[in-house]
Amino acid sequence: MTTRTVLVTGGARGIGRGIARAFLEANHQVMIADLLDGSDWNYDLATARAMDETVEALQEFGEIASVALDVTNKSSCEQAISATMERFGGLDVIANNAGVVSSGPIEDFAEAAWDRIFEVNVKGIYNMIQAGLAPLKASEDAAIVNTASVAGKKGGANMSAYCASKFAVVGLTQSLAQEFARMGIRVNAICPGIVGTAMWLDHLMANQGEDAFEARMQRMIPLGRPQTEKDMGDAVVYLASSPNVTGVSLSVAGGLEMN
Ligand code: NAD
Repeated sequence: MTTRTVLVTGGARGIGRGIARAFLEANHQVMIADLLDGSDWNYDLATARAMDETVEALQEFGEIASVALDVTNKSSCEQAISATMERFGGLDVIANNAGVVSSGPIEDFAEAAWDRIFEVNVKGIYNMIQAGLAPLKASEDAAIVNTASVAGKKGGANMSAYCASKFAVVGLTQSLAQEFARMGIRVNAICPGIVGTAMWLDHLMANQGEDAFEARMQRMIPLGRPQTEKDMGDAVVYLASSPNVTGVSLSVAGGLEMN
């Protein structure tokens, strides 16, 4: 397989780090892009330190670099694309993985939180695709893989903003797959089940500890364990590398969601 250049948003940690590692191990080169100071949300997002640590930890697997990115800001997206082109000379794959969650009853759900979830999870993908479309068109083997969620296939109480945003990602994925097919750009999504990242450990099950998380997931998930960063990375590499697969939103969820 030829080496391709991959840009992973939200790549400093969690699922994004798993995606970066899987591409490196498949012999591709990777730019991770993330916030440098994500301290203004209901749980801490990425930091410059997390980004540096990920680059250091993954460089044994291949060519990796990092760039600051706020997906809600169009010019930041353009700068991240330019930095990737300068560093690696092209761009073949965008993994739109950055995302945020907030949960709670809709009756007092803060408007600012509602807006931010849509700004990051949905408009962030629009921003990145507008910024990156020209190099993807120029690529011989272009693909986009979005990180949606099982929450993009089934709604849940107190999860209205997040679920609605992830349903939007599935719709966006299908629409762009149709729109870009004749350009040779494939567009797919993964729908992770439950991965023990900050979203769960610092928000959805905050202060309950990793053992409680693990025990709950063993009960809840048919295959008996939470998903891993590696499960997600492997699925994204598969979708980015399968020449006749487009428009798919693939559940990687241990049987939690089967559609
Ligand atoms: P995470 O919080 O560790 O990772 C999310 C990353 O997105 C962070 O590095 C964060 O800094 C980054 N990010 C947030 N806002 C950003 C912005 N404006 N610009 C750039 N980067 C930004 O959590 P995660 O679980 O690794 O989440 C990764 C993706 O997976 C998200 O899209 C999330 O919705 C999705 N997801 C997670 C789970 C799960 O169980 N953890 C399940 C389904 C889907």
